[in-house]
Amino acid sequence: MAYKCAMCGREDTPLLEATVKGVGAVLICPDCWQRLMSENKILAGSSAGGCACG
Ligand SMILES: [Zn+2]
Repeated sequence: MAYKCAMCGREDTPLLEATVKGVGAVLICPDCWQRLMSENKILAGSSAGGCACG
């Protein structure tokens, strides 16, 4: 089963689980994760590299 980045649709990279403000818990690629983090859009408490078993 393939997972796609909720932001850009990439599926050729390991995805990170993050809770994005206004969006909720999503799987996103490292690029989007860093971008959202730099924009302070990822809620505290979510951690990179967690399991995708939600
Ligand atoms: Zn992405």
